[in-house]
Amino acid sequence: GSTWANVPQGPPAILGITEAFKADSFKKKINLGVGAYRDDKGKPYVLPSVRTAEDKIVSAKQNKEYAGITGLPEFTKAAALLAYGKDSSALDRLAITQSISGTGALRIGAAFLERFYPGDKTIYIPNPSWANHKAVFNDAGLKVQQYSYYDKKTIGLDFDGMIADIKAAPKGSIFLFHACAHNPTGVDPTQEQWKEIARVVKQQGHYPFFDMAYQGFASGDTDKDAFALRHFIEQGLDVSLAQSFAKNMSPFPWRKLRLNGVFVVQGLYGERVGAFSIVGASAEEKKRLDSQIKILVRPLYSNPPIHGARVASEILNTPALYQQWLGEVKEMADRIITMRALLKDNLEKLGSTHDWSHITSQIGMFAYTGLDAASMEKLAKEHSVYATKDGRISVAGITTDNVGRLAEAIYKVKG
Ligand code: PMP
Repeated sequence: GSTWANVPQGPPAILGITEAFKADSFKKKINLGVGAYRDDKGKPYVLPSVRTAEDKIVSAKQNKEYAGITGLPEFTKAAALLAYGKDSSALDRLAITQSISGTGALRIGAAFLERFYPGDKTIYIPNPSWANHKAVFNDAGLKVQQYSYYDKKTIGLDFDGMIADIKAAPKGSIFLFHACAHNPTGVDPTQEQWKEIARVVKQQGHYPFFDMAYQGFASGDTDKDAFALRHFIEQGLDVSLAQSFAKNMSPFPWRKLRLNGVFVVQGLYGERVGAFSIVGASAEEKKRLDSQIKILVRPLYSNPPIHGARVASEILNTPALYQQWLGEVKEMADRIITMRALLKDNLEKLGSTHDWSHITSQIGMFAYTGLDAASMEKLAKEHSVYATKDGRISVAGITTDNVGRLAEAIYKVKG
């Protein structure tokens, strides 16, 4: 028999929504399943700052030599500045490596914790969390537990439950926090709540691991979105951090180019630019951490790809481009905030008596509508509106053109 006769068929990845969407022939169908539509037939559209940076890099005809194990130092240095802030006490005691975007950063972090964390190798993630977290951590050898996060009744944060679970976990547990724009709920703690979370984490001697996949995306301001991370540092908590540049250096569907009726999007999603950093107690400790990160990364993939990191580095290190990019990030975040408001307004104008305030109080790319699986199926079957069964919609897929029809569809399904 075949060597692989015993390999079972695995379940399909989440792309089912995109398939159902593609198969629907209705012209005004709406896909709110993922953040961006792609069409590999068309020309890619890139954020203007990304385009400029890339043009500069290509015309400079730089060589394609290997990067070092931890990537391009000019990139990782700038990435650390962006996240921790230029006045951070952590800057000269953190070890940082370029990573294969946010997912790769999480995986390196998980492997590091699995190898060196002195306490119990269980990581607590919010309930719910990004669908890939559990698999990333499990595959790296960590056990995964959940802490309370989302409150179905209020479609908001279950703050008391969250604090209670942080307190109830064994002292010295590892906790994963979404730094901002929580995926999938769009529900973030307020700054006051973050302060309380930091206090309890510190009191319990827990170890915080931040996942920052959307810096700039929540509020439009990269500093504001880094509040939680920076506050933890100020409180003397040494953290780990996974950063992604996939989203904040990529545009969204409303931005121009449509080919064959399909939006064409390409930013840095596919370049897989990210970073993993770990804060040590001192510059001496940083050296030891850095040496072990290298030992860990070397057998994984030797060294990371250079092109995307060069582009990101060019943007972050060129003052004019950096300012332009901050403006573009703000424009993207503002657009999301505007679409949230428009959706809520439209629902209210239609006469919906539900409280839709969570649509505008949530933040970032995703909105939890509070619609159940049956309603989501109705949305797809009867209104050609596609999104995940858990009621999450990607606000990035809403446009001034389709928001009216979307509101009508939700109204018809939910009232
Ligand atoms: N963390 C969270 C919370 C995310 O939502 C995502 C992307 N969906 C990632 C990490 C990783 O994304 P990437 O690997 O594309 O940077």
